[in-house]
Amino acid sequence: MSKPLPISRVRNIGFIAHIDAGKTTVTERALYVTGRTYKIGQVDLGTAVMDWMPQERERGITITAAATTTLWQDHQINVIDTPGHVDFTAEVERSLRVLDGGVVVLDSVAGVQPQSETVWRQADKYHVPRICFVNKMDRVGADFERTIQTMRHRLNANPLAVQMPIGEEADYEGVMDLMRERAYYWNGGASPEEGPIPSERVDDFQRYRDAMIERIVETEDSLMIRYLEGEDIPVDDLKSALRKATIAQQLVPVLCGSALKTYGVQPLLDAVVDYLPSPADVPSVEGENPDTDEIEVRPAHPNAPFSALAMKVTTDPYVGRLVYLRVYSGSVKSGAMVYNATKGRRERLGRILQMHANHRQEVAEIGAGHIAAAIGLKSTFTGDTICDQDHPVILEPPTFPTPVISLAIEPISQADRDKLIDSIGKLVEEDPTFIVRHDEETGQTVISGMGELHLEVFVDRLRREFGVAANVGRPKVSYRETATNPSRAQGRFVRQTGGHGQYGDVVLEIEPLERGEGLIFESKITGGAIPQQFIRPVEQGVRQAAENGSVAGYQVVDMKVTLIDGSFHAVDSSEIAFRAAGSMAFKEAFRKGKPILLEPIMEMEVVTPAEFLGSVLGDLNSRRAQIQNIEGGDAIQQIRVLVPLAESFRYAGVLRSITQGRASHTMEFKYYQPVPSGHVQEIINR
Ligand code: GDP
Repeated sequence: MSKPLPISRVRNIGFIAHIDAGKTTVTERALYVTGRTYKIGQVDLGTAVMDWMPQERERGITITAAATTTLWQDHQINVIDTPGHVDFTAEVERSLRVLDGGVVVLDSVAGVQPQSETVWRQADKYHVPRICFVNKMDRVGADFERTIQTMRHRLNANPLAVQMPIGEEADYEGVMDLMRERAYYWNGGASPEEGPIPSERVDDFQRYRDAMIERIVETEDSLMIRYLEGEDIPVDDLKSALRKATIAQQLVPVLCGSALKTYGVQPLLDAVVDYLPSPADVPSVEGENPDTDEIEVRPAHPNAPFSALAMKVTTDPYVGRLVYLRVYSGSVKSGAMVYNATKGRRERLGRILQMHANHRQEVAEIGAGHIAAAIGLKSTFTGDTICDQDHPVILEPPTFPTPVISLAIEPISQADRDKLIDSIGKLVEEDPTFIVRHDEETGQTVISGMGELHLEVFVDRLRREFGVAANVGRPKVSYRETATNPSRAQGRFVRQTGGHGQYGDVVLEIEPLERGEGLIFESKITGGAIPQQFIRPVEQGVRQAAENGSVAGYQVVDMKVTLIDGSFHAVDSSEIAFRAAGSMAFKEAFRKGKPILLEPIMEMEVVTPAEFLGSVLGDLNSRRAQIQNIEGGDAIQQIRVLVPLAESFRYAGVLRSITQGRASHTMEFKYYQPVPSGHVQEIINR
């Protein structure tokens, strides 16, 4: 068992990117050059080391956030694999929460694409410092500077090139390193070879280097003064200032390369070590003490009380349940008793494994800042905090967006029922953006997720990994309902049965809220018209009734419900009676408030060769799409549209057939919007 490196030599990073930007390839090559994998995995051939699930191989995308450990320049780099597809937002959020720095991979031809924007915003939310790798420099149409421009415009970022490419497209052969004032030639993908700056580029080089230095010294007053006094700032000072500015998220260092050819990967790893923070460089994590409700800080120090976040749970065919832990403070030894503060339970932690790309290594202990997988934690789930019981703390778990699409699953035979329920439970445990519900009326199990692909992968895994035989319905849109007018209604639940009866009586007012606000309940009861203990049952009745609106039975959202009056009976009133009265009043008020149906609207980007632009637009117009923007050049056009989710089903196949498979698209949920009146009846009939 090996000894862990000191925390200043640890980098917990993730490669984050738009799908197809080359994130998997970059990750692969990074693991390859760090000497931990023995052959280069190729995404196209389905042998990538990180992508271990069969679906991922077939689809060529990365779904599971596995943490892989590797070594570079005496530093331990933990690579947390983040998915590129927005359908897997939960995975992205989860990984961003636990990494200290990100490498954003962009495609030098397409520049910043919508999903890059999404992950960029998510990375902002978690204050993740970033560097950027402009990939695919070998491709026709590659443009380093334009890609940097799109970072400025679309991301509002502050990119700073620390390299300039030498040659482009097929002739891309190396970079000028603006820091070290040297050129590096890729040497056919072996180790980069140092060489002179090409003579015809010397002026170019000087201009870029000066611009870079000016922007770095601007971030530090003392450096600025030295620079203005004419000092030639040593490269180590420039690097350390850039490191600080990167960690403070003032600047984003940008490098370039071609991962497919293993060009630019070693300098990228150097940049990870040079510019991205160690766990000690980022602010200490905070959490709530469950005993006192006070906010407490946990410094990334081995002597602090132990705290760790369960960042992911997977089921491993050999060792069973693996819980990936990011340790924030203190340390823990294998075999120790730990406290799950989220669940309020003690558990024994078994062995601790460091996961490398192609082998696992058992470690005796993990300390602050490190990531490893633990065996034996049976009641710890994704997002739970485990800690020292004498110093309990609950770290803030990641937040997840609304699932907008659902499908029904039924076991084929009674014998499959238990297996189905058990397997669904396991999958939901891995990815909390799947929501499972049992439909009483139809007896079906309904799962909801973030998109068509998200659900497809779910069903695929049920069948393959768990061998469940099930009938699966077609994906359905999760519509919502809301009332457009304020209204008021009374609900009286009065029954006289035999001995003592039931009595509940409430008056509710409802009013519309802005989109995305959900359902808010407030009580304005004063002076005892309804005793305090019955207020909560009223709210429960309202929320239960709001599960099924009156237009087509969908969940009611974006309403404020105020309890304004009511009455009670000293003997007959009960919680049940008030729950029923609340439910009746809400149903009545909602019906009177001119309810409407809302549908999820997706933001979609289609990238297509220009020759197919006409057919793509024609098809989009038949899908109630609102074109937002079309841009691009003679070769490639990018179309941004808003399109109802209901009109986007099976779009991938349609797009393939109208563009001979040469266009691609991405989609993410944007907001809910009223369904046009012409379509409402059709939905109700369904
Ligand atoms: P991901 O979806 O971001 O993980 O992207 P992948 O790594 O799966 O790459 C998507 C596609 O781009 C694959 O067909 C790769 O072979 C290809 N690709 C990746 N890097 C490069 C590159 O540097 N140059 C070229 N021309 N293609 C690349």
